[in-house]
Amino acid sequence: MRRQIVAGNWKMNNNLTETDILIADLKRQNKTSNAEVKIAPTYTNLWHAYQALRLTEIEVIAQNMHFAEKGAYTGEVSADMLQSVGVKTVILGHSERRAYFNETAEMLAKKVDAALDNDMNVIFCFGEELDDRKSGNHQQVVESQIRNGLFHLEEDKWDSIVMAYEPVWAIGTGETATPEQAQEMHAFIRSVLQSAYKPGIAEKTPILYGGSVKPGNAEEIFSKPDVDGGLIGGAALKAEDFFAIVNAF
Ligand code: PEP
Repeated sequence: MRRQIVAGNWKMNNNLTETDILIADLKRQNKTSNAEVKIAPTYTNLWHAYQALRLTEIEVIAQNMHFAEKGAYTGEVSADMLQSVGVKTVILGHSERRAYFNETAEMLAKKVDAALDNDMNVIFCFGEELDDRKSGNHQQVVESQIRNGLFHLEEDKWDSIVMAYEPVWAIGTGETATPEQAQEMHAFIRSVLQSAYKPGIAEKTPILYGGSVKPGNAEEIFSKPDVDGGLIGGAALKAEDFFAIVNAF
């Protein structure tokens, strides 16, 4: 059985006080599923969140990082810096990073390598725009994103990779891919993995779905055989909603 994972991406929300309040709420929730739970607060609150959650099952992860080890990259954060505040997993390739911060396939491949070289785990995001889906190119776009970002990796690196399919048209829009659309894409991703690597990799790599997952639709989406969990934006900002999704397995 593959790992089941629900990760909350808090994006640029919650100052320190608000982070404290949400973490206290999260600690009050009852977990009834076997899903791994992760939250990604903003950089300034990572150390605080790590300390507040270190004795719980909730892992604190980062929303991004730079590929360089150190140096003249004003405003950036390295893998080593994340590790030094207890963070062992990083989200890379989120569509907001690709769209608003011009993150290219080449940069993302370097970030993946930097994370893995520093013994970190990666949640690698990708997904098509609405126009790609309307024109029927969605599988082609997704295939090229995952090939460019991940397929240079040796097989032994895949234990540290989680994939997150996030159709851009479904992020923060209230519009969700239907469970059938999610399943179709996840099965396609697994088949692309299967064609590039030995079978074990496609079978064991978790593929999360992200895009307006909520307590009301999580159960149906997670019931699909190739959907191994969710990357959650808006609904991760309310502890009850987030844990309703965690418990939807
Ligand atoms: C996301 O940003 O990764 C996301 C899935 O956001 P939302 O759940 O708000 O659509």
